[in-house]
Amino acid sequence: MPVKNRFAELLPEITAWRRDFHEHPELLFDVHRTAAKVAELCRSFGCDEVVEGIGRTGVVAVIKGRTDGKGRVIGLRADMDALPIHEQTGVPYASKTPGKMHACGHDGHTAMLLGAAKYLAETRNFDGKVVCIFQPAEEGGGGGREMVADGMLNRWGVQEVYGMHNMPGIPVGHFAIRPGPMMAAADQFEIVVTGKGGHAAKPHECVDTTVVSAHIIVALQTIASRNVDPLKQVVVSVCTVETDSTAHNVIPQVVKMKGTVRTMEAKVQDYVETRLEQIVEGTALALGARAEVHYQRGYPVTVNAPQNTDYAAEVARKISAHVDTDTPPLMGAEDFSFMLNERPGAYIFLGNGDTAMVHHPAYNFDDAAIPFGATWYAEMAETRMPAA
Ligand SMILES: [Zn+2]
Ligand SMILES: [Zn+2]
Repeated sequence: MPVKNRFAELLPEITAWRRDFHEHPELLFDVHRTAAKVAELCRSFGCDEVVEGIGRTGVVAVIKGRTDGKGRVIGLRADMDALPIHEQTGVPYASKTPGKMHACGHDGHTAMLLGAAKYLAETRNFDGKVVCIFQPAEEGGGGGREMVADGMLNRWGVQEVYGMHNMPGIPVGHFAIRPGPMMAAADQFEIVVTGKGGHAAKPHECVDTTVVSAHIIVALQTIASRNVDPLKQVVVSVCTVETDSTAHNVIPQVVKMKGTVRTMEAKVQDYVETRLEQIVEGTALALGARAEVHYQRGYPVTVNAPQNTDYAAEVARKISAHVDTDTPPLMGAEDFSFMLNERPGAYIFLGNGDTAMVHHPAYNFDDAAIPFGATWYAEMAETRMPAA
């Protein structure tokens, strides 16, 4: 089976939804227009239950199969939010809101899951129940965590969860997945170095926080290069340095730094947090300053359950001759991880072709990928819950 014929027929309609979402990007939990349209469409498809306001602005649409919802319950998830980026694609349906843009393709994910919902509500060629999960705030707000915390998985008895993300650099119509860790845990830290400011020509009367901070930045590089097993993945990046001096001749009293830590295993994550605090505090102490670390855990590691990875890959192979089941893990993070921490499931990449990378102002979701993605969602339900 290649893509389902029905999705070739529905392509213009699904593309129109996608482009409408693209024109009207919304950030984080503020996805009111998108969520309202998703809910309205799901109701128009005849979904058995459509509930808004899950995890603040998430939408859940339930479709019962032939046996009226007895049997397995499968969750299919898409994300709805955009990014604070000024679009530079030049497409006719470009964002109408300056500074906001669907630069991660969540417009495509939402449209494809809507397409699958329409098809599944028409055909109901499965046993059990499909729970379509449309989440807000994937880009940093933890919308997936909020929906889980709202009891979504228990409320509808979801037993397995499946998610998808488009990926530039992989040809359209190709899929890529791997068992185990697929995306990293993303933590953030803030470091505040306090010394003694003063005249730049009298450094001996000051504790120069700029010099201390520079030593800290260099020393933090030893976490990846000297502390963590070289066979494990780790990223420690200091991304922001801000001093309270704006003058060329004033040594700042305080320097603040912000950055991110990416890891693939809980043990490594714990170790990096400990080493980061030790290095920062120890380096500051050695140079006569004080430093505080505020370390905040973000999205956990996205871990594909081996068995469910097989199911997801098997479905992808029905659709495409090109399914890579050993794609390298990425150090980006994904808040579908909160759902995968609660239920077995898998997360798969769908090729977006030779486009700009996600989060780039020239990125655009490729509508040619829609039939593949929509078929994968629908087929996941039909394959995991075959009608008797
Ligand atoms: Zn993104
Ligand atoms: Zn994304």
